[in-house]
Amino acid sequence: MDKYINAGGRVPLGLKSKRLRVLVTGGAGFVGSHLVDRLIARGDSVIVVDNFFTGRKENLVQHFSGHRMELIRHDVVEPILLEVDQIYHLACPASPTNVMGTLNMLGLAKRVGARFLLTSTSEVYGDPLEHPQTETYWGNVNPIGVRSCYDEGKRTAETLTMDYHRGLNLEVRIARIFNTYGPRMCTDDGRVVSNFVAQALRKEPLTVYGDGKQTRSFQYVSDLVEGLMRLMEGEHVGPFNLGNPGEFTMLELAKVVQDTIDPNAKIEFRPNTEDDPHKRKPDISRAKELLGWEPTVSLREGLPRMVNDFRQRIFGDEKETVG
Ligand code: NAD
Ligand code: UDP
Ligand code: UDP
Repeated sequence: MDKYINAGGRVPLGLKSKRLRVLVTGGAGFVGSHLVDRLIARGDSVIVVDNFFTGRKENLVQHFSGHRMELIRHDVVEPILLEVDQIYHLACPASPTNVMGTLNMLGLAKRVGARFLLTSTSEVYGDPLEHPQTETYWGNVNPIGVRSCYDEGKRTAETLTMDYHRGLNLEVRIARIFNTYGPRMCTDDGRVVSNFVAQALRKEPLTVYGDGKQTRSFQYVSDLVEGLMRLMEGEHVGPFNLGNPGEFTMLELAKVVQDTIDPNAKIEFRPNTEDDPHKRKPDISRAKELLGWEPTVSLREGLPRMVNDFRQRIFGDEKETVG
């Protein structure tokens, strides 16, 4: 038994050579599984709690033969007792239960004295009236709109996190994550990068919603994981925007996907969804200054890495289905 684990659950974070026991909720998902890879490579022991709602065991299969990772099938809406030093809370069902899961993980952090990191989202800015978005902007969210369940859920999660910090002195960190892409992303989650890449590979038209002039800023997953770890280990609560400031219209994104996969891929326009934010781009000055962090992988560099993974999964799966 590692003696540091039982030291009231709290490990002096300056002493990074000591092995930490880290809980990653949602660790079988897209971002979570990449984070688990990094933590294990660093020498930590990792407990993953996931209900496999959108996550997959395959994302963690590389750690099954080792003894550094424990995988627990559990819904964070239900309380759970564990002994850990740090909690990366990524589990996020797209429903109000988001709030219950966060409350339970804050309760756990309080009981064992663990440092708690919330993965919030750029969606807290809603359809922003400030551009680019700084962390001091309070956002523009329609509380009764079709997207509000996710947006308000994360806003409430931020509120709870800050209340536990102020009221109970819990050590907390808040990351506001901007659109992230990369290998292991769900191929059918309906998000724009996964849709375009899967469509181009399957020789289907790329579905551009609305006029395609709305913008997003796309971050490669390894940049995000680096930012999350710096935030957890650093001294600042945040919130911190973690995103790539490179801004693209959906038509520009379609062009990058065409250039990367198939220059002949067609574009098909579809009606846009309600309350779709018109533009989004992070101001990352705070993360640059206080975490010494900024993204290093551009969209044109990162996309091919995701395409290789998607190609294998899409055509591998289809072969299996046919066979
Ligand atoms: P994902 O869906 O791949 O991962 C979420 C994981 O949580 C999945 O493995 C899922 O099975 C698990 N999960 C969901 N509900 C659960 C529950 N009730 N109990 C236990 N496990 C549960 O999503 P992701 O893209 O990896 O996102 C990770 C986090 O980052 C989320 O909190 C998300 O809101 C946030 N985020 C992601 C992005 C992005 O672009 N990927 C942007 C902003 C914020
Ligand atoms: N909780 C948990 N694991 C723990 C400690 C608490 O899941 O190790 C849950 C607990 O069941 C409660 C929530 O976290 O639903 C908030 O706990 P806290 O102790 O902060 O609040 P209280 O139980 O006092 O309302
Ligand atoms: N979008 C699109 N085609 C698609 C899926 C999404 O044009 O097949 C658009 C969507 O309308 C939005 C943008 O891409 O303007 C980003 O959507 P996504 O769901 O990926 O992320 P979010 O809206 O949460 O930032």
